[in-house]
Amino acid sequence: MPTVFVGHGNPMHAIMPSRYTEAWESLGRTLPRPKAILAISAHWFVPETAVTAMAQPRTIHDFGGFPRALYQVQYPAPGNPLLAQRVADLLSPTPVRQDAAWGLDHGTWSVLKHFYPDADIPVVQLSLDSRGNGRFHYELARRLAPLRDEGVLVLGSGNIVHHLGELLWEASASPYDWAVRFDQKTRLAISAGNHDALLALDALDADGRRAVPTPEHYLPLLYMLGLQRSTDQVSFPVEGIDLGSISMTAVVMG
Ligand code: ZN
Repeated sequence: MPTVFVGHGNPMHAIMPSRYTEAWESLGRTLPRPKAILAISAHWFVPETAVTAMAQPRTIHDFGGFPRALYQVQYPAPGNPLLAQRVADLLSPTPVRQDAAWGLDHGTWSVLKHFYPDADIPVVQLSLDSRGNGRFHYELARRLAPLRDEGVLVLGSGNIVHHLGELLWEASASPYDWAVRFDQKTRLAISAGNHDALLALDALDADGRRAVPTPEHYLPLLYMLGLQRSTDQVSFPVEGIDLGSISMTAVVMG
């Protein structure tokens, strides 16, 4: 299986068609059909490593102030307790809590709703341990490598550039120069396989500090890097900066 990073951006993408959502639908049709999905969302950023282990995860509406229609979206994909246990086994000796309370947050369902609208592929979420640095997450991802041979799509959902404090809501607004530069620089480093540079969140330049003011939306990308193989083709099937300061860049490796 390929491994995929998606820039999810504004939760409204779940219900508002755009060139981004069309690209996600196209990916869902063209990627090999997975047996299960392991989703790593920016929105489960907690001081532990946990996996959703319930048979039927709930749809979590983890945002405020959006239209009622967004709160009515359900993504009733089943869970996969066996995959949750498999993830824990692969990540050993790092402790992985089998979680029965979380579910699918909007980082996962707002995207998967377009990839797989029938919600018929089991989904497990893996939390992002907020205590870990870039290297920690990368090394964790490397232990998940066998999943690619087992038909599991490992999907990271965040944003390479994500600065909510500088959002521009006018449809005609141009992206910030620093956002474009950091997105471009990151894509070049991904294409070049320059993992060390991409992991060094504590050594970001001025553009990077503005593009990644907090780590949670960037960290899912590091899981794709950890799962990358020397034989993988790298492509960017979605590109663009939304609302001035949100990169919608998607990366497919496989
Ligand atoms: Zn988000």
